[in-house]
Amino acid sequence: MANPQLTKQQREELFAPLFKQTKKELDRLSGGDGDVLFALRRKLAKDLGYLERGEPMMRVKLKAQKRKEQSGLCAVCGKTLPEKGAELDRFVAKLGYTLKNTRLVHHECHIEDQKKKKYA
Ligand SMILES: [Zn+2]
Repeated sequence: MANPQLTKQQREELFAPLFKQTKKELDRLSGGDGDVLFALRRKLAKDLGYLERGEPMMRVKLKAQKRKEQSGLCAVCGKTLPEKGAELDRFVAKLGYTLKNTRLVHHECHIEDQKKKKYA
């Protein structure tokens, strides 16, 4: 399933004002201090990522649960997963990282599967 995307109208009417306002707030809050501006912008980007993907510790726990649930095997190829580097694949991205909406896979299997979905 393709991820939801903003229409041209939504980009203009919702996103553009939000982004403009956000930039203005970053400038106001940093008060001309380049270091503060840099750090604020970086922290905002990081935390927005967490809003979509969840905190890193939550994903670490979820990976461990999925590994147990899948008996240590990749959900795509069925072969043993490595101790490190296995990836969580969301069935529907917007539904986030939950037990029900994810499976644990090899990095290579993840890439291959995404290619297939893209060109299906
Ligand atoms: Zn695999």
